[in-house]
Amino acid sequence: MDFPPLVGFLNGRFEPLADLQISVLDRGFLFGDGIYEAIPVYNRHPLRLTEHLRRLADSLAAINMPNPYGAEEWASLIQKLIAQQSFADQSVYVQITRGPAFPRNHAFPTVTEPTVFMFADELLPPCKEAVANGVAAVSAADIRWLQCNIKAISLLANVLLKQQAVDAGVAETILFRDGYLQEGASSNILIVKEGVLLAPPPSNLMLTGITYDLVIELAKQHNMPLEVRAILQQEVLGADEVWLTSSSKEVLAVVSLDGKPVANGLPGPLYPMMYDYFQVFKNEAMRLGKDK
Ligand code: PMP
Repeated sequence: MDFPPLVGFLNGRFEPLADLQISVLDRGFLFGDGIYEAIPVYNRHPLRLTEHLRRLADSLAAINMPNPYGAEEWASLIQKLIAQQSFADQSVYVQITRGPAFPRNHAFPTVTEPTVFMFADELLPPCKEAVANGVAAVSAADIRWLQCNIKAISLLANVLLKQQAVDAGVAETILFRDGYLQEGASSNILIVKEGVLLAPPPSNLMLTGITYDLVIELAKQHNMPLEVRAILQQEVLGADEVWLTSSSKEVLAVVSLDGKPVANGLPGPLYPMMYDYFQVFKNEAMRLGKDK
């Protein structure tokens, strides 16, 4: 594999990504014992950094790991990373593992030296075609564990579920548990029914996306009828609109599910409105350097 010519960060040092190395005994490698964040950056301004850092802190607390940096230190390190890339729009990846330990043992090591890794890749907006015409998805039973609210690096179930989408030639796998909508393999899912935007309530069975929160905030700001409540699988199948949200995909309409059209198979009327609210927020707030 050829390494991309990017600058990364490992345990306090900025170096070319190709030069960064970790121990084969790292618990992230051996156990998937760690957490991560992915922060979208527009014009070198991280979007909702405070919220991303709060989720990072929550994920660390949930796996009993101290936070290696305070919020201000994180912000400064992330800005330094952003400054060293050649592109203005970026996706900053942050990963913290419980570090190297020997002998290999499931239990926490008595002394932990966390591994803190970051890199930033170019962030490309979803293609115009996907925005204009929507994307397809498949559905699957949610086979993940019961702490999906933790942004854990142990993503094997998500990987397998996402591959089902790729194998079917579609964009996402929408997950259902016990007859209820949870989220996508790497996104949140909202639906529209009779003019009302419906969002599943945050719980231990989904990761509350920063984009999901922003879309809900924008819906409230623009007086779009909104209800946050449990959504039945049947309601998704009969929805007027299905939306997918994530830091990399922003907001996309899902226009087909398991080969059947969602409503008439075109993005519904509320989608372009939310897409515009999102673009205005992104362009005005972010390009001007303020995020509220
Ligand atoms: N759910 C899952 C399982 C995810 O992996 C992601 C991130 N790709 C999201 C939801 C969306 O989160 P965010 O809006 O913060 O990117």
